[in-house]
Formats: sequence, C-alpha cells, structure tokens
Amino acid sequence: MLTRRSLAGAVLALGLTALAVPANAQQDKLPVVASFSILGDLVKNVGGDRVAVTTLVGPDGDAHVFQPAPADAKKVAAAKLVFVNGLGFEGWLDRLVKASGTKAEVVVATTGIKPLAFEEEEEGHAHGHDDHAKHDDHAKHDDHAKGEDHAAHDHDGHDHGPTDPHAWQSIANAKVYVANIRDGLIAADPAGKAEYEANAAAYTAKLDALEAQVKAAVAAIPEARRRIITSHDAFGYFGNAYGVAFIAPQGVSTEAEASAKDVARIIRQIKAEKVPAVFVENISDPRLVKRISQETGAKIGGTLYSDALSDDKGPASTYIDMMQNNIRQLSAALSS
Ligand code: ZN
Repeated sequence: MLTRRSLAGAVLALGLTALAVPANAQQDKLPVVASFSILGDLVKNVGGDRVAVTTLVGPDGDAHVFQPAPADAKKVAAAKLVFVNGLGFEGWLDRLVKASGTKAEVVVATTGIKPLAFEEEEEGHAHGHDDHAKHDDHAKHDDHAKGEDHAAHDHDGHDHGPTDPHAWQSIANAKVYVANIRDGLIAADPAGKAEYEANAAAYTAKLDALEAQVKAAVAAIPEARRRIITSHDAFGYFGNAYGVAFIAPQGVSTEAEASAKDVARIIRQIKAEKVPAVFVENISDPRLVKRISQETGAKIGGTLYSDALSDDKGPASTYIDMMQNNIRQLSAALSS
C-alpha cells in the first residue's frame, strides 16, 4: 500500500516522466491551416507527424457560405501555410487572410488541374471549351497569390461565369492536390522533404487503389441507370471522370436557392428520363430533394458527402472513406 508520502512521490515521478517525453513534439510541428475538412485530411496524410493541421470549415460544414469568426483569424495568423481549394470555393478567404495579418504562404491545391466551367442548363449558354485556357491561366496566378495578388486576379475583366470548384470529387484531381500539398510543405519545411515525399507517394498509391475501386463499381451499374439528382451541383468532376450523370436544381454554389423554374424543369426531366434516385447531401437542407422525390417517385438513395467530411463517428471521416461511402450509396441505389 502506498503511504501518503510515497503517493506524492509517485505523482511527482509521473509528472517528471511526462515532462521527459518529447514535450516539444506538438510545438515543433509546422502549424498549417486547411480551409475545409476534405483538404485538411489530404494535408494530414502528406504532412504526417511533422505537421499540425487546423481546419477552418469542419465536418458537415458548408464552405460556400462560411462566415469566419475572430478565432479563425487567429488560426490563420499562427499558421506557416494556408491550404485552400481555390476556383472560387472560399469566397471569404482573401478577406480573412488580410484581416489576420498572417505571413503564411497561401497554397492553392487545385493549381494545375483542368477546371470545369459550370455549364448553364439553358440552351446556348453553355460555356465553350475555350474558357478552360483562361481558367488555367487563372490557376497559375493563384499559385503565387497571397491575399492582395489574389484579389487583383479574381476579377480580371473576363466574364467567364462560375467555375466548378468541386475538383476533389475526381480522384485523379485529388492526386494533383496531394502533389501541390507536398510541394508546399517542402518549400516551407525543407528538412522534411524525404518524409513528405514518402507520405505523398504512399497516399497516392492508396488513391490509385481507390480510383480502380470506384471505376469498377460504376462499371457494374447498368449504363441507363447512371443518372441521379443531388441538391447542389457538386459532382461535376465525379460525373466527368467516372461516367455518371448528376443533375441538380441548385448551381455549383449553395449560396443561391434553386428557383421554382429550375425545380420544375428537374421534375420534368426526372419523369421523362426515368431518373432512378435522388440523393441528400451532408451539407444541404434535405427538404428540396425530399419534395422532388415525392413529386416524381424517384427514391431517395441515401446521403452523399459532397463538400465536407463527416465527424469521426460518421461514415466519411476521411477523403478515402468519403469516396467509398458515396460509391456504396450510388451502387446500392442504382444497381437494382
Ligand atoms: Zn459545393
């Protein structure tokens, strides 16, 4: 049995042991910020033990309409790097970076990907492929952009309409994100080069396996049934890469509500094309999709994770789990 004195001694000894464990492990890590949860997971996979990642828009959060709080400015101020998606996804970012006074480099994860122009549904208004060249330019500027430069390039006189920011929904694009994250980390922390390269290579191998899995799952769905409804247009890159048609009453942002005309058009389209299933998104109000389901008889296929991960207890707490969840939901709803 411990006497009071020896108990005190034990507690003291424990305290000293705790101190002896690398006490500086956390504070020695490179502090970085990721704008939203999906990107945060990619950064964690590449950064590994050398990096402490803070995410601004958390699980099930909607980055389109996010309103930064003073606490977010503090996180950005303390960061050495800020990872963002770009392509207009984080409209609030430039102001936040400026307000924070941070010296952090802003790394645009979509640099080098081929952006999709959001195609308007009205005939004659679809954006031509010429637009892509301009967007590529844009991405290059973003590369070096800190707050001020960024804003200057945002409205450069071209009216090229909204660009679809949801590039992570293509796994090929996620590999580009990983390469950009790796390069950003190496530039900020050259001593970690070998580790970042090894982490990025190992994670990219997992993404290769994931991509094969998604392609095989889509191939197993009868072609005529590869068409679904979601509430906002977040799956353009997924649809393009894997051959599934996504139709959404709301545009590529959740900022504007779907118009009655858009909803009526989609209801007609579902009936005419016998679209088998509609899906709820984790970041969107499910009521619109439920109403469309009731009016058309298309079944609700489950929840797709579009712009944010789930929390740790959910089915999509990492990028890989998110993609696997989505393809499981699609397969289950469309296969039979
Ligand atoms: Zn979105």
